[in-house]
Amino acid sequence: MEANVTELFGSSVFNEAVMRERLPKDVYKSLKRTIDKKEHLESSIAEVVANAMKEWALEKGATHYTHWFQPMTGITAEKHDSFISPTSDGRVIMEFSGKELIKGEPDASSFPSGGLRATFEARGYTAWDPSSYAFVKEDTLYIPTVFCSYSGEVLDKKTPLLRSMDALSEQAIRILRMFGNTTSNQVITTVGPEQEYFLVDAELYKQRKDLIFTGRTLFGAKPPKGQELEDHYFGNIKERVKSYMRELDEELWKLGISAKTEHNEVAPAQHELAPIFDTSNVASDHNQLTMELMKKVAKRHGLECLLHEKPFAGVNGSGKHNNWSISTDDGKNLLDPGKNPADNLQFMTFLAAVVKAVDDYAVLIRLSVATAGNDHRLGANEAPPAIISMFVGDQLDEAINAIKNDEKVEAAKAAKLETGVEILPAFRKDTTDRNRTSPFAFTGNKFEFRMVGSALNISGVNIVLNTVVAETLKQFADELSGADDFEGAVRKLIKKTFKEHEKIIFNGNNYSDEWVAEAEKRGLPNLKTSYEALPHFADKENVAVFVNHNVFSEAEVVSRCEILIENYIKALNIEALTMSSMARREILPAVIEFTASVCDAIAAKKAVSDTLDVSAETKLADKLSKLTASASVKIDALDEALKNVDENADAAKQAEYYGKVVLGAMEELRADVDELETIVSAEYWPMPTYSELLFNV
Ligand code: ADP
Ligand code: MG
Repeated sequence: MEANVTELFGSSVFNEAVMRERLPKDVYKSLKRTIDKKEHLESSIAEVVANAMKEWALEKGATHYTHWFQPMTGITAEKHDSFISPTSDGRVIMEFSGKELIKGEPDASSFPSGGLRATFEARGYTAWDPSSYAFVKEDTLYIPTVFCSYSGEVLDKKTPLLRSMDALSEQAIRILRMFGNTTSNQVITTVGPEQEYFLVDAELYKQRKDLIFTGRTLFGAKPPKGQELEDHYFGNIKERVKSYMRELDEELWKLGISAKTEHNEVAPAQHELAPIFDTSNVASDHNQLTMELMKKVAKRHGLECLLHEKPFAGVNGSGKHNNWSISTDDGKNLLDPGKNPADNLQFMTFLAAVVKAVDDYAVLIRLSVATAGNDHRLGANEAPPAIISMFVGDQLDEAINAIKNDEKVEAAKAAKLETGVEILPAFRKDTTDRNRTSPFAFTGNKFEFRMVGSALNISGVNIVLNTVVAETLKQFADELSGADDFEGAVRKLIKKTFKEHEKIIFNGNNYSDEWVAEAEKRGLPNLKTSYEALPHFADKENVAVFVNHNVFSEAEVVSRCEILIENYIKALNIEALTMSSMARREILPAVIEFTASVCDAIAAKKAVSDTLDVSAETKLADKLSKLTASASVKIDALDEALKNVDENADAAKQAEYYGKVVLGAMEELRADVDELETIVSAEYWPMPTYSELLFNV
């Protein structure tokens, strides 16, 4: 196996090596210019590329091609066409034209547009994104594309991501030029998403309508053994999981996805996969493919992969740490502090820009991860609270303070960690100690945004990060341009920025109650739920930042805001309906049947002798009856709550109603049912329990 990994890696990808080998030299050069410098691709060139792609794909066993895109549903979309083209003598040949490569016309009406299409009566089309490689999966050639309407509105998540990358590049280059950099042509944002997930047995999964319809358990009492033993994290990976991970790795490697680290997570049945980072748009495409393959490969192993943020109440949820950095096209990471951060003025400038951006746009960053699923995780004890703050670590904090106080910092004494073992060389201690509670942590040469939910498409958060940092870089560049004493001006600007935005920096424990109180004192926003956060997307300053950097038009922001709120409402509506139906049609009948058997037992005992003790049976029957009656009332209340949704209210109001009233009714019902689960015989309980789901892989 080991020997073939290098051969396997990228073997299904029409990557640079394949292009160089298969395309005529001038065509290859021209395509490279399109990819690297975004030059227009001549149709004659596209024709040659399409043909080479087709020949290559046919050799890989492909019979179809698809324009692959990321509509606002959160998943990817594809429509497969075959390569066949009839000939006059009744046979077929395999054809693929430059036009088919460059442009497609999927039926746009079936994807959410948040009213955009209605307003502009636009049809949608897909256009090839040559910056992300085409690939073959199963029998199909996949062409990564963007999805727009004919009147130019963006209908997908990729176009704004690419625009936000351009926006950041433009402003970062302005700053770099001021620092005397004449060689870099572009600045690139990079992302490495660490993906968490659960694996459960497929047979058990099939018996839970809640998992099938909503991705999470809507009922379930806490198992006797949870994660308190902390024996799962980095524990031995079980055979079945190991063979799953191995196959997943191979599938990902074929697609050129550099799956690198895989280990168990804190919760039982929870795992993580981290790839090596890539440019934001490629990382986003790859993460979508990774999630898809995680699910697909799981099925081949009799497993189901759960990507929901909180599949099990009371058990650690799943996130997706978005590691984010910026680097030049000639390979310099701009968030690398070097040996002495305070002396590295350029690094401090970029750091200050990020600090300011995160403080100025904390609400926007917060709402970029707001979904019905993630609401269950943010604030729970494994995930950062909904308050945005930044961790920078001791060394940087010292450097920042020195700048604020006009002090000179001594060259950082490279801290050495004594390993205590002779043979191991002492390694340099990370410049940042590990703070795992911060939502936005500086981790040496990148930031790790930890609030992202496991099920989210990472485009959304990266669009926001890139755009808001582009904005602060722009403000910096505007202020610095024309300064007589550049270095003095930079120092002044950085000092002012750190002073004004120190409230966003917090290096302590974000999980503590003191922090919540402290954050409030500092005036940091705390938007705990999606229905509180999402409507702010359309706030004046948020619209302005997108419009100013050509990432979204105002109409696009408003439509996206609407879609996100609608998604929240839909998710809660499906959950409520599923819950009501499970309680009414599965749980209550089972409990009633069990109660009858307990009553039968009482009657049987009494038939034998009046003196037999039936107190235990009676007590149980009594408790069952009371809980059944209570649960029955709560099912009615939940149905009533759904009936009372005001369909005419605006989306934000409806979302608030769902978040408060409907979710409240669901929690009430769940409490009764979970208590019933602990007293109803396992034989009668109609669905697999947490213990079975979590400890049976
Ligand atoms: P951990 O956070 O578990 O200690 P690492 O720090 O090695 O692990 O990396 C976590 C993720 O961050 C990986 O996906 C890695 O590729 C990614 N990463 C590393 N450097 C960068 C960078 N410059 N830009 C974006 N992501 C990065
Ligand atoms: Mg991490």
